[in-house]
Amino acid sequence: MVALDGPSGTGKSTVARKLAAELGATYLDTGAMYRAVTLGVLRAGAAPDDAAGVERIASAAKLEMGTDPLAPTVFLDGADVAVEIRGPEVTGAVSAVSAVGAVRELLVEQQRGLIREALSAPGGIVVEGRDIGTVVAPDAGLKVFLTASSHARAQRRTAQDTAEGRVSDLERTHADVRRRDALDSGRRTSPLRRADDALELDTTELDVAAVVGRLLELVENRGLLAGMERTSR
Ligand code: C5P
Repeated sequence: MVALDGPSGTGKSTVARKLAAELGATYLDTGAMYRAVTLGVLRAGAAPDDAAGVERIASAAKLEMGTDPLAPTVFLDGADVAVEIRGPEVTGAVSAVSAVGAVRELLVEQQRGLIREALSAPGGIVVEGRDIGTVVAPDAGLKVFLTASSHARAQRRTAQDTAEGRVSDLERTHADVRRRDALDSGRRTSPLRRADDALELDTTELDVAAVVGRLLELVENRGLLAGMERTSR
């Protein structure tokens, strides 16, 4: 198993999917799970920082995650929400929802279940998020913490938004990236931080192919390549 953590805009999702595809592994986007719960909260008209209300909604929400790296899916209560969870409303509220301890407990448990399931089949799994190496799977075979300057991350987010047809503004995105960094790093439960035994990879000057290449080297150096194929770890 590979754990990829880091703040938003480091290229985590893109490289995690490509790495998983290269390895013949499955892929889990834990951020999409926090986003789907946030969508449920917004739909219910609850305030993202109303911990009790958020907990109630999160407990009732039925999340289904598709882990094919070539076509990952997110279903909330039986409906495909892949597009909606990337919108500005969800992005604006997700840090508050993900700071609620009960939401984290619930989702971490689901994530561990999905990881266990993946590891029981050949191929292994690449999991991306903020607390995979520290909380969800501290015994992952390889932990990498991706970083990049906040400016580079805002540029990537803007390019991604534009490519996917969303209106985007670099300055506003840069402010949002910094705001979410502060919230995600400053929260009490599972703050965003590099696990002591995670390798840090600064992607500011690297393109996607270079990052994936470096990660494949790391997987190989750890002796996980055969392991991921054979024993799914
Ligand atoms: O990765 P993505 O930007 O989609 O994550 C959205 C938000 O979900 C993050 O800003 C963070 O607040 C939360 N998150 C988290 N723990 C994770 C993954 C995401 O708290 N493992």
